[in-house]
Amino acid sequence: TYAWYSQRAWVEIDLAALSHNVKQLRQLLSQKTQLMAVVKADAYGHGAVSVAKTVLESGASWLGVATVPEGIQLREAGIKPPILVLGAAQTTEQIHAIAHWELEPTLCSPKQALVFSDILETIDVDATLPVHVKLDTGMSRLGTNWQQAVEFIQLVERLPHLRIASIYSHLATADSPDPTIMNLQHQRFEDAIAQIKALGIEPPCLHFANSAGTLTNKALHYDMVRTGLAIYGHYPAEHLRHTVNLKPVMQVKARVTQVKNIAAGTGVSYGYRYIAPHDIRLAVVGIGYADGIPRNLSNKMQVLIRGQLVPQIGSITMDQIMLDVSNISDIQEGEVVTLLGQDRDRQITADDWANELGTISWEILCSFKHRLPRVAA
Ligand code: PLP
Repeated sequence: TYAWYSQRAWVEIDLAALSHNVKQLRQLLSQKTQLMAVVKADAYGHGAVSVAKTVLESGASWLGVATVPEGIQLREAGIKPPILVLGAAQTTEQIHAIAHWELEPTLCSPKQALVFSDILETIDVDATLPVHVKLDTGMSRLGTNWQQAVEFIQLVERLPHLRIASIYSHLATADSPDPTIMNLQHQRFEDAIAQIKALGIEPPCLHFANSAGTLTNKALHYDMVRTGLAIYGHYPAEHLRHTVNLKPVMQVKARVTQVKNIAAGTGVSYGYRYIAPHDIRLAVVGIGYADGIPRNLSNKMQVLIRGQLVPQIGSITMDQIMLDVSNISDIQEGEVVTLLGQDRDRQITADDWANELGTISWEILCSFKHRLPRVAA
């Protein structure tokens, strides 16, 4: 085994920046509003266990995961606070695991509520499971249509072994500068809650906002917000940059493994998609698409060496990329290359890659493979 600094490539995680971001978000929230840190997908690629421990020390009181195994991973690491499974658990094995590991499921439909109640009956007749009722107010993903909220809630209330711990919904367009659809979803949520309250049912906890909703409108905060992207230091949209000061938590780095001279007219990498226009100094770097560098960035990406922007040339290969380092004097094998992150006063962000690729920063952050060790910054 090698120490991290002898690795060819790695992901650096700045837990102090993570803590800073959670505190920034907490400052936007009233005392009574809780912060759920969304740590699904291995904490958006940052490493779920270390992220969970840090956010819980910094002002988050809930964790959100997508799947039952993600929740179990946190419990096995000794993490005790409540964990909401945002995805739709429904098999017998999943429901057994939820009860055993004290995870809290999302209930999306009357059918799923009946399945849960039946299976819990077979496990322990006295047990009651806290459940989180999901309403679809316009995302058209999980949840029962807001117009059927009352019937759904009444069913869950009647069923043995289930206790409603919260009612929630999810925003589809909160990152858009146009708030029309967000406001419509908000109105639908309000209408559904008003009808539920009219029956004499007081929902113990309401939650609605993702990062964009949290940064956009305090009226969406309710009793809890569910923030993912922002805790990792990224803004869901350009127009939300002024709202809080966020610091990126992740950096991706690799080392130069070989340096050589290439004569004018020489082809570089698979398919010769780059032909040296003049004599160049070329550096090979030990990171590639099997580590999560999108191959579609071939010939388009830049990296940082000694605070200078350096162009990547030719096709990105599975484990290696090539750079034109003609402008870096006396470059050495073993030198550190920053692919994403800060080097001196220059920065390359997940948004830069996402804009180039026509995707979103969420996808970039989740794309780095486990072959890259996660190390503390
Ligand atoms: N809530 C739910 C139900 C989600 O699926 C997600 C992530 O997609 C979030 C909250 C967090 O979203 P974001 O990363 O935009 O803050």
